[in-house]
Amino acid sequence: APADAVRPTRAEVNLAHLRHNLRVLERGLIGAEKPQIWGVLKADAYGHGAPAVARTLERAGIPGLCVALLEEAIELRDAGIRLPVLVMGGYYGPRRDGFEEIIARDLVPVVYDAGQIERLASVVRIEQRGRVGVHLKVDTGMGRLGAASSEIEAVFATLAKHPEVKLDGLMTHLACADADDLGVTIEQMRLFGEIEQRAKSFGLTPRVRHASNSAAMLRLPAARLDIVRPGVALFGISPCAGLAPDLKPVIRVRSEIVALRTIAKGDRIGYGHTWQASRESVVATVPMGYADGLSRQLSNRGAALVRGQRAPIAGAVSMDLTMLDVTDVPGARLGDEVVFLGAQDGPLGRGTISAEEIAGLTGTIAWEVLTSISRRVPRFYR
Ligand code: PLP
Repeated sequence: APADAVRPTRAEVNLAHLRHNLRVLERGLIGAEKPQIWGVLKADAYGHGAPAVARTLERAGIPGLCVALLEEAIELRDAGIRLPVLVMGGYYGPRRDGFEEIIARDLVPVVYDAGQIERLASVVRIEQRGRVGVHLKVDTGMGRLGAASSEIEAVFATLAKHPEVKLDGLMTHLACADADDLGVTIEQMRLFGEIEQRAKSFGLTPRVRHASNSAAMLRLPAARLDIVRPGVALFGISPCAGLAPDLKPVIRVRSEIVALRTIAKGDRIGYGHTWQASRESVVATVPMGYADGLSRQLSNRGAALVRGQRAPIAGAVSMDLTMLDVTDVPGARLGDEVVFLGAQDGPLGRGTISAEEIAGLTGTIAWEVLTSISRRVPRFYR
């Protein structure tokens, strides 16, 4: 925990819950050919702090990790993580430097075009490394990153021509694994199987194949293959309603009441005076704002927990501060804990504000709620 955190606003990361979620996901994978779980820790482990999360998962026996960026992989190595780390973004810089770093740090690169394979092969030759394993990403319908169907034969031919680059893994990403209708996902998996067959005709047999994010691993056993890549589920969020109810949210964002005032009926507060007291009211000010990741869209819509009870956000969320209407929270005092995300037990009961609830109010998804908790909010681990 940062020693210089003066403000009472902090994110508490419950590493026991993280371990619990890993066990829940492991238990769900039954059968003789159990896939490996490679946890997705991109974007600072979905805002939870990548080094601490990676250390916890490594000790809990997870076989591998995935990140989006080379920088994120380097951060994990600098933190002493020795697990295989798959760098999924596929961008290693326009020159050779990125691949040199990949090799020096013993990372697993994802490639998706012939140029990358040629650049990597030349670095492997220059550095006399023998062979370096890669995972090839193919596009089966996401339309984002990955060799397209029309390019795939050229990419296979390039791989076959460069023995320095070994096709260890074949992967794809699913666009609609959380949709009610799994039709798109089933079609993506069919195409993926077809691409695997085409690889064989080039003498390429990847050791592992993977496609599943949290939603696919929980809903579609046929998509699990050899490795599954859950992100959000590890952090205790169900990728769609009703799935894996045993998961426990890992992060909790809390602060304290730093000012309290009673205002008269008719008074207005905050930027733009968007909130007006309909009665004599008690207003609490809390040092958490949109610069901390509390969406401004929660102005006059969201709530926070005080003494175990909900208190509505009153007025516009500002950069550093937010006001709550605590008129109906008997006994609210200066210094009381305020929870913006997570659970709170208090003298008035127990309340919870989930990332899904905030996402619903702000027109986004739980993934964005988690990754929006800004650097200014220090993470404390327990
Ligand atoms: N695989 C890839 C390629 C991703 O980009 C992501 C994140 O979006 C994941 C897996 C994990 O997804 P989720 O957090 O939905 O489990």
